Amino acid sequence: MDEGGGEEPIAASASTAGGEQIGLTLKAVLKENSQLKMALNAHAIVASTDAKGVITAVNDKFCAISQYAREELIGHTHRVINSGHHPREFFQGLWRTIARGEVWSGEVCNRAKDGSLYWVQSTIVPFLDEDGKPEQYIAIRADITARKEAEAEAQRMALHDALTNLPNRRLMTDRLSQAIADKARHSGFGAVLLMDLDHFKEVNDTLGHATGDDLLKQTAERLASCVRQVDTVARLGGDEFVTILDDIGADLESAVLNAGHIAEKIRSTLTEPYQLGRQHWEVTPSIGIALFNSVHDNPEELIKRADIALYEAKDAGRNQQCFFNPSLQEEAINRALLMRDLRLALDNNELVLHYQPIVDEQKNILGFEALIRWFHPKHGPISPGTFIPLAEQTGLILPIGEWVLKTACAQLAEWGDDPQHEALTVAINVSARQLNQGDFVDTIKNVISQTGARADRLRLELTESMLQANVLSTITKMDALRLLGVRFSLDDFGTGYSSLSYLKRLPLDVLKIDKSFVEDIFADPSDAAIARTIIALARSLDIDVVAEGVETAEQLEWLLDHGCVFFQGYLFSPPVHKEQASKMLTRRPKVYF
Ligand code: C2E
Ligand code: CA
Ligand code: CA
Repeated sequence: MDEGGGEEPIAASASTAGGEQIGLTLKAVLKENSQLKMALNAHAIVASTDAKGVITAVNDKFCAISQYAREELIGHTHRVINSGHHPREFFQGLWRTIARGEVWSGEVCNRAKDGSLYWVQSTIVPFLDEDGKPEQYIAIRADITARKEAEAEAQRMALHDALTNLPNRRLMTDRLSQAIADKARHSGFGAVLLMDLDHFKEVNDTLGHATGDDLLKQTAERLASCVRQVDTVARLGGDEFVTILDDIGADLESAVLNAGHIAEKIRSTLTEPYQLGRQHWEVTPSIGIALFNSVHDNPEELIKRADIALYEAKDAGRNQQCFFNPSLQEEAINRALLMRDLRLALDNNELVLHYQPIVDEQKNILGFEALIRWFHPKHGPISPGTFIPLAEQTGLILPIGEWVLKTACAQLAEWGDDPQHEALTVAINVSARQLNQGDFVDTIKNVISQTGARADRLRLELTESMLQANVLSTITKMDALRLLGVRFSLDDFGTGYSSLSYLKRLPLDVLKIDKSFVEDIFADPSDAAIARTIIALARSLDIDVVAEGVETAEQLEWLLDHGCVFFQGYLFSPPVHKEQASKMLTRRPKVYF
């Protein structure tokens, strides 16, 4: 060490020449070194090895975490604690780095003596000899097991559903992508089963959400018990579950048979009664199945197909399975295209209202029912039976319904201007979604005042199914509108399952006998009985009855014989354009068709 040399790293004070001073400095260096070592030992897991990696020293922390005694480690390499978690390349890379004399840093999973795994953040520092070759390595490690476990748990949570512990949609999509990719190596079919519980909402509504959750947990367990360990059962959310079956058959026929067999096993297992608290409860599932056998399939598309098949299973009466069938896909595509076009239909003036007269037994026109028509620029007229459900699904029914309301009320005002027709009524079909809008009453009031239509000439037609939800708020809305004079008809009566108690509670003015009963009066004695019962029922409740779909003189006669006095149907007139409807009115007072 040079006297007074500026390079001296440890010397604490300006030195005078002499050995005593050097001795002091050395002491200080040694002291500081030993303190540093103590601090390091207190903090870190430390080991030294020779150039070959044979352990020459370990500190207490190393022994504690690895559960090996010092003698069991010294003289051995780190292979003693190898967990097998990392591939060979991992350690090859590590050795290449430190053998070059560079520091290596990384996270390593080790195995303790009792077989448990622990994670360390490891830094390995090589010390070089005069030739620049490593002669010793010192490894300094910190225990990061807790952090690693937290990370693993966070990752598990991100990929699993908290309620059932099943893989969630993300993990399911990964697994499905993997199963599809595997088709490059194994030929044959896999299957995706999409399942949901029929009327699950009823459980939530009747027994509460906690019980609904309990049911979902039990469903998850049963579902998992129906398939092999290697198959994936996942929960997409709500009561929707997906099962991925990897190898279900070498050819299409056996794939259909096997997937169908497993779906049936699932169906029958899930229909066993459930114990929910003190209640026994029974539910049924519906299952849609899509098969795949090519690397070109994709997960979203497969789930979509299974969903279409599930829809079919529901449509066919629930509690059953259904396979995706490509012609169904065509239907779905057509529906989607139609929805797209329907968005433009209002702006492009493609919607028109037609009016069908409602008459009495002398064939006097008492009013009209407004029925919407869509003239598609490419496909021509499209029936409301096709596009109204689409409009309901997409919410487009709200602007469309408002347009119907405005157009029909404007027409009503125009007809009402003529004192001869001031008693004429116009009936409008209202959708559930419209009725359930919070501002339904205000919307109607506004349109009435904007168009100048007489409220007491307006009829709103509701159907049974829409009256079942929110009965109280529906009655409140009906009462508010009835105060203005608006009257209500119950449409398609007899096709739903409304109870008599509903009928008594609802402020209704008219029951419309569904045309399906009128159609079969002579063919089906039970339809005749229903029509008779409806007429008698309406009488007893003091409600008017309109028979829909009257097509023949015989039907009219039968209805008259049984006490029905208002009619609608092709026998009198189909729904017609407003000009034609106006022409019918000029042939008053009595109009014969
Ligand atoms: P709905 O309210 O039951 O309408 C009566 C249906 O019976 C109409 O079909 C009408 O054209 C048809 N019809 C009338 N007379 C006869 C007959 O003698 N024989 C037969 N077989 N059918 C007859 P349309 O116009 O196709 O309407 C179908 C349904 O679409 C309507 O059933 C109604 O539920 C719905 N709809 C129509 N217009 C509107 C609307 O503006 N808004 C809403 N929300 N729904 C509408
Ligand atoms: Ca109607
Ligand atoms: Ca009807």
